[in-house]
Amino acid sequence: MSLRKRVLVTGGAGFLGSHLCERLLEKGYDVLCADNFFTGSRENILHLQGHPHFELLRHDITFPLYVEVDEIYNLACPASPVHYQFDPVQTTKTSVHGAINMLGLAKRTRARILQASTSEVYGDPDIHPQVESYWGNVNPIGPRSCYDEGKRCAETLFFDYYRQHKLQIKVARIFNTYGPRMHPNDGRVVSNFIVQALRNQPITLYGDGAQTRSFCYVDDLIDGLIRLMESPETLTGPINIGNPDEFTIRSLAEQVIARTGSSSTLEFHPLPQDDPRQRQPDITQARELLGWAPATALKDGLVKTIDYFRALIAKGLT
Ligand code: NAD
Ligand code: UDP
Ligand code: UDP
Repeated sequence: MSLRKRVLVTGGAGFLGSHLCERLLEKGYDVLCADNFFTGSRENILHLQGHPHFELLRHDITFPLYVEVDEIYNLACPASPVHYQFDPVQTTKTSVHGAINMLGLAKRTRARILQASTSEVYGDPDIHPQVESYWGNVNPIGPRSCYDEGKRCAETLFFDYYRQHKLQIKVARIFNTYGPRMHPNDGRVVSNFIVQALRNQPITLYGDGAQTRSFCYVDDLIDGLIRLMESPETLTGPINIGNPDEFTIRSLAEQVIARTGSSSTLEFHPLPQDDPRQRQPDITQARELLGWAPATALKDGLVKTIDYFRALIAKGLT
C-alpha cells in the first residue's frame, strides 16, 4: 500500500484544475482527476498523462462516485457566464448534487474537502472591497443565478456537513483568475480581449467599461488553494483568494492593446443583465491566516497569458 496522499480533483481537466493537478503531482501526491469534459479538455492534462501518479476518470459529479481518497478539491463547475448559462439546470445540479456527492464521499472516507466557491456569492456587492462576512446581493431568479445560487447552496451544504457530520471542510471564495489554459471561447474578459487584440479585431467592451474587476494570476491562486487545504483543521473559511489590485475593464482593454502592440479599436456593446459594477477582494484573512498574498502583477501575468494565446493561434487551435 502506498503512503502517498491520494487527492481527488474534480474538474481537474479545466483551467484551474489542470494547474492544480500539476502542482499536486509536483508535491508528490497521487492525483485522481475526475471530469466530464463539459468545459475542460484532454489537451489541458495531456502532459500529465503517463505520469505514474496521475489517473484520469471521465465522470460527472452529479452522479455518485466511490473511490478511496484522503483529500478532495471540488472544482467541477462551468465558470464563465457563457458556459454556465448554456445549460443552467445542469449548472445548478453540478454545484448542488455535485457537492452532496462529494461531501458524501468525504463523509465515508473521512477525507478533507475543499470547495472552489466564488466571489459571485457576493453578487453585485454593496460593500467594497468584499469581506467574507458580507452576505451578498444576489438576484435569485436572473440569468446568473444558476451559478451564484448554486455556489451559495454548495457553501450551505459544506457548513451543514461540517456541523452535522464533523467533516473537515475548506471553502475558498475565488475571485477572477486568468492565465494559460483559459478557454479561448468562453467569453471571459481576459481571454476575449487577448484573442481579439492578437487578431487586430475590435475589443468588445460591455457597457462603458467603468465596471471593475481584480485579476489574479493562476499560479498565485493555486498556491492559495493548496495553502488553505493544508492549513490547520479549525480553519474552514470561507476565505477570499484573489488579487486586490482593481482595474476598470476599459483599463484592462488598454493594457492588453499596449502589451500586444495591437491595432484593435474599442467597440462598445450593451452591459449584460446583473453584471456586477465592482469587485475587489479583501484578503486580510488570507494574509493573516494563510500567510498568502498574490505575487504576480497584472502586467506580468498578462505577458505570460498573451504568449500562451499567441502560440495557440499560431497552431490554429483557436
Ligand atoms: P473550467 O470550466 O475551466 O473548469 C471546470 C471543469 O469542471 C471543466 O474541466 C469541466 O469539464 C468540469 N465539469 C463541469 N461540470 C462537471 C460535472 N458535472 N462533473 C464533472 N466535471 C465537470 O473553469 P475554471 O475556471 O477552471 O473553474 C474551476 C472552478 O473554480 C469552478 O468551480 C469555478 O466555479 C471556480 N472559480 C473559478 C474562477 C475563475 O476566475 N476561473 C473564479 C471563481 C471560481
Ligand atoms: N456518495 C458518493 N460516494 C461515497 C459516498 C456517498 O458519491 O463514497 C453520495 C451518495 O450517492 C449520497 C451522497 O453522496 O447520495 C450523500 O451521502 P450521505 O452519506 O451524506 O447521504 P445518504 O447516503 O445518507 O443519503
Ligand atoms: N466583459 C467585457 N467584454 C467582454 C467580456 C466581458 O466588457 O468581451 C466585461 C463583463 O461585462 C464584466 C467583466 O468584463 O463586467 C468581467 O467579465 P467576465 O465574464 O470575465 O467575468 P465575471 O463577470 O464573471 O466577473
